[in-house]
This record gives sequence, structure tokens and C-alpha cells, in this order.
Amino acid sequence: MEVNARRLVGRSAVITGGASGIGLAAARRLAAEGAHVVVADLNPAAGEAAAEEVGGLFVRTDVADEADVIALYAATYEAYGSVDVAFNNAGINPTDDGSILDTGIDAWRRVQEVNLTSVFHCCKHAIPYMREQGRGSIINTASFVAVMGAATSQISYSASKGGVLSMSRELGVQFAREGIRVNALCPGPVNTPLLQELFAADPEQAQRRLVHVPAGRFAEPEEIAAAVAFLASDDASFVNAATFLVDGGIAGAYVTPV
Ligand code: NAD
Repeated sequence: MEVNARRLVGRSAVITGGASGIGLAAARRLAAEGAHVVVADLNPAAGEAAAEEVGGLFVRTDVADEADVIALYAATYEAYGSVDVAFNNAGINPTDDGSILDTGIDAWRRVQEVNLTSVFHCCKHAIPYMREQGRGSIINTASFVAVMGAATSQISYSASKGGVLSMSRELGVQFAREGIRVNALCPGPVNTPLLQELFAADPEQAQRRLVHVPAGRFAEPEEIAAAVAFLASDDASFVNAATFLVDGGIAGAYVTPV
């Protein structure tokens, strides 16, 4: 994808889960638009490599650990003097999370910690910097499953993303007059390692889902990153507290083309 826009020159952008998939694509895109990118991830090898590639900073972070998150924004502020964009994107979709009838409490708790409590920590500790600056854009990765039900249930995951969606909306409303926008990015299925792992073993599982996508394919991470860049930038100055679907039309579909 060719990038001509330079909408983020001089802004700092913290990306959790920036070592892979959507986060990595966003790191590349935001850097291409001029941002100072901070890659925050559990994975030091991939995280260092991503940060080096985009000329940014890597901070090893477990987003479920509040102390790590506090240190992440402190490191960002120290390096770049501001916290302008927080893309709270790290998340897990483990195979032991399925039907409510089969999913144990340990899987449930782990998914809530990594997908939902992490966003609580990240927003709680990014917002004070943004209030001080009178400016900031927070983008929390929810999912289209926050607004749609699936018979192929991953109950902990869906519930965690519903939480991310309503938390984002509420924060967007609360801080709107302080120059802070908070949006929930809701991607449809994206061609990332997370999804590839899930479907590699069983192509029928992929087909079962593809039939519901009007576009007839899954998204590429770069297409989600383009939406992140928009939401991060002043082009989205009146986009706030939104359920920002980037799903190829899934949530609008009843019968799809054959
Ligand atoms: P991915 O597995 O490719 O990347 C996730 C990254 O998060 C990895 O680099 C991993 O190391 C990191 N991570 C995991 N746990 C962490 C933790 N505790 N602390 C810090 N980093 C951690 O996944 P992806 O497909 O790019 O997904 C990114 C986000 O998008 C997730 O929140 C996911 O739920 C969401 N999402 C994905 C899809 C999809 O189809 N891939 C669709 C909708 C939403």
C-alpha cells in the first residue's frame, strides 16, 4: 500500500502488540506518516526487530501488568516528550476459549486480563499525559464480534471485546472536551498469525466464515492499519466514541453475493 500522507509528523504513537499482525502493520504505517513509534510487546525478539525497522523504540511490556504499562508511557514521554497516540491493540484468542459449556474459568480470566483489563490499564495511564497536553487519540482494538454473535463461539474473547467497546465509548464521552478522542476499532477477520493459526489446521473453518463476508475475503493487516492512521490523525478530529467497523461489510450483511 503506497502511503503519501504525512499526518503524524512529530507525534508519538504507542502500539501494544506492535510486534505482529495488525500492530506491526500499524507501526509501519504510523511511522510512514511521520510518527515516533513505540512498540510495546511481550515478545522481545520480534518487538526489537519491529522497532528497529520503523526507527522507533521497543519497550518490553506485559499489558496485563499495570506497573509495566505505567513504565511504558513514562519511557515514551522520556524519549519523545509527549504521548499523542495510544493504540491499545495487544490481544489473545486462545484455543482453550470456545463454547461457554467447555471453557474453563482459567481461560476466561486470562482472556479478560490480556484483552480487557490491559485496555483499562493503558487508558488509565495514557489519559493523564493527554489531559496535560490537551490532545490525544486513543484507539482500542475491539472486534466485529463485539457487535455480532457467532455460533462458533469464543465466549471469553467476545465478552472481552464487548467490554473494550463500551469502555472506549464511555471514555470518549468523558474526555471529549479535553481534546482526547477514544474510539473502538472493530476489525473483521484479518489475515494475521492469530487467524492463520486458527484456520491452518482446518480450511473448512475458514470457509464457514468467508461465506459471511460481502467482500469475499479476509482483510489484510495494512487495511486495518490505514484505519488506525486515520483515527490517530487530525483527519478524524470529529470521530469520537465510535464503533469503528473495518469489516468488509460483515456487520451490515444478511445475504452475501455468491
Ligand atoms: P497477533 O497475534 O498477530 O499479534 C498480537 C501481538 O500481541 C503479538 O505480538 C503478541 O506478542 C502481543 N501480545 C500478546 N499478549 C501480550 C501481552 N500480555 N502484553 C503485550 N503484548 C502481548 O494478533 P493480531 O491478529 O494482530 O491481533 C491484534 C488485535 O486485533 C487483538 O486485540 C485481536 O483480538 C484483534 N483482532 C484481530 C482480528 C483478526 O482476525 N486477526 C480480528 C479482530 C480483532
